[in-house]
Amino acid sequence: MHYLITGGAGFVGSHLADTLLEQGHRVTVVDDLSTGSMRNIAHLRGNPRFRHVIDTMLNAPLLAELVDDSDAIFHLAAAVGVKLIVESPVRTIETNVRCTELLLSIAAKKGRKVLLASTSEVYGKNADVPFHEESDLVLGATTRGRWSYACSKAIDEFLAIAYWREKKLPTVVVRLFNTVGPRQSARYGMVIPRFVTQALAGEPLTVYGDGSSSRCFTHVSDVVRALAALMETDAAVGEVFNIGNDEEIKILDLAHRVRALTESRSEIQFVPYSVAYEETFEDMPRRVPCLNKIRRTIGWEPEVGLSGILDSVIEFHQGAIARAV
Ligand code: UDP
Repeated sequence: MHYLITGGAGFVGSHLADTLLEQGHRVTVVDDLSTGSMRNIAHLRGNPRFRHVIDTMLNAPLLAELVDDSDAIFHLAAAVGVKLIVESPVRTIETNVRCTELLLSIAAKKGRKVLLASTSEVYGKNADVPFHEESDLVLGATTRGRWSYACSKAIDEFLAIAYWREKKLPTVVVRLFNTVGPRQSARYGMVIPRFVTQALAGEPLTVYGDGSSSRCFTHVSDVVRALAALMETDAAVGEVFNIGNDEEIKILDLAHRVRALTESRSEIQFVPYSVAYEETFEDMPRRVPCLNKIRRTIGWEPEVGLSGILDSVIEFHQGAIARAV
């Protein structure tokens, strides 16, 4: 198969490109390098089955050509990271909605299957964990910037499902739960790369609020395995799937664990949400996936637990420090 990956120079996209190439497929990546990086795909450049195009996917004639050339599309291009979203809401909303609209309209004309990467953020403030795919999406007021991300991705999901129901374009929607691993940058605010780089630099670990929020982290290798398998599964078309790990940890406990694993003497610093993000910021206290649907459909299970996740991120950042000196 020849796959197009939008956002393929990003953290998840570049790992997906690795996996698809290992499986013998051809891969084209389109990325505007807004949050992606050439470093993530530099190792693939000599591979004759790999091609990358650095441009915005909003260049419609280019996108039409890339879609036409491919057999199916993984749509991963999006504005990501709570920090970026709170700081640049216009960019978030426009990028997420326009890119998906354009891609689906072109894919429908050419009859190319699309897998849309969405996010567990769409469940919003729903307190009823674990979240299953039919759970309610509970979003906050439109004056609170954070929710624009969930809302823009929910519109993307509605569109993908509508294209399947109305235009018979095969689409699959996946909701990723806090994906982590090597190559993820600390720059966009994600907690594990932040804590690890802070601990390795001997800087304070910034725990927002009182650290009582919890999350479930998923290793990127598990995520890309699920993406590749769902793309090949007819029963997944028109459906929504959680992709995650149900091992939960409180953020304060995570900070202690990173500190211990890195043998760091960094202190733990509590930062109010109003300082970390914005005055009216709302966090979500828990986010746990129900994995029954993906288990039932493709027999997928996450294989890397939190210990393996932390080891791989620490090793990656230690390596980055060694390469820099
Ligand atoms: N967080 C934190 N310190 C940081 C970055 C994040 O305490 O330096 C917290 C954040 O408030 C949230 C959790 O870690 O409760 C996960 O944040 P992240 O931005 O990684 O992902 P989210 O699940 O919020 O999209």
